[in-house]
Amino acid sequence: MNASGSVKTRHRILYVEDNPANRKLVQHLLQRRADLELITANTGEQGLQIARDIKPNLVLMDLQLPGMSGYEVLAALQQDDGLKHVVAIALSANAMPSDIERGLAAGFRHYLTKPIRINELLEALDAVLDG
Ligand code: MN
Repeated sequence: MNASGSVKTRHRILYVEDNPANRKLVQHLLQRRADLELITANTGEQGLQIARDIKPNLVLMDLQLPGMSGYEVLAALQQDDGLKHVVAIALSANAMPSDIERGLAAGFRHYLTKPIRINELLEALDAVLDG
């Protein structure tokens, strides 16, 4: 909060997730955070379009999506001049060490595994947004 009582910096987080329960959980989790604005997308295609429209500060990305995968969305972001520096965090049920290695190699800053752990997610968001 600044002197006038309004929120100084509001970070925009785009969450791309086809599972409504996960979208709801993250929405619920972040609604207490006045410094964060959460926008959700149900598909990779929609997520990419929204990213181009709103230029989020951070993208939280499910990897298994019905059309474009999270990897394909990340690759498209990396090829977009306006979005190639956006930080992306993977959030996936694929939790083998090789899955995590692949995600980090593709360019995800963090790779979080499902089920979503609240503290781990908040720590990753804060680490990215503070840095
Ligand atoms: Mn999914």
